[in-house]
Amino acid sequence: SRGSCSPYRVVLLGASGVGKTAFASIFAGAADSMDSDECELCGDEEFEKEVEVDGEAAIISLIDKPSWDSECDQNCPMQSGDAYLLLYSITDRASFLRASELRIALRRCRPAQHTPIILVGNKCDLVRRREVSPNEGRACAALFDCKFIETSAAMQHNVWEAFHGIVRQLRLRRDSK
Ligand code: GDP
Repeated sequence: SRGSCSPYRVVLLGASGVGKTAFASIFAGAADSMDSDECELCGDEEFEKEVEVDGEAAIISLIDKPSWDSECDQNCPMQSGDAYLLLYSITDRASFLRASELRIALRRCRPAQHTPIILVGNKCDLVRRREVSPNEGRACAALFDCKFIETSAAMQHNVWEAFHGIVRQLRLRRDSK
């Protein structure tokens, strides 16, 4: 049983160009069905899908909202998500700093809640252009009290692991209530 059938709202956050759209496409399955005539991502910022994690079904509603308003209200992605994938590119140190800023903004917007967050170092296939080491990513995640994973959307490496990881964290939080 799924416990609660309501979808988990997972928000993609990060600087421009880090791979949020690539993540959303993999999630939506665009990569394996390019000719699909129902591209629900097009013109819509939200895409809902059932996934199986550890033998149990979960519904993720993925929100790809790169823009973010510092004046946080109920519709702000900083308020409306259940969990966050906080992306940077390992080839772009500025995007790593941006991820830190976003983490701080999240904490400010949601002071009372323990929100599942995974810090995602994307583009790990671009080894020769690396500007942020795995150790720096890990240290930053530890400091910010979130999980860490390196991914390559281009190689479809660890992307589903990131989505599954966020579902596991959401379940842990649900089960501890
Ligand atoms: P967004 O602005 O965060 O939505 O970033 P996009 O998903 O549009 O990605 C920006 C660019 O980086 C595009 O040209 C992508 O093809 C490329 N890209 C995204 N993820 C990866 C990755 O893991 N590896 C490589 N080599 N390129 C990537």
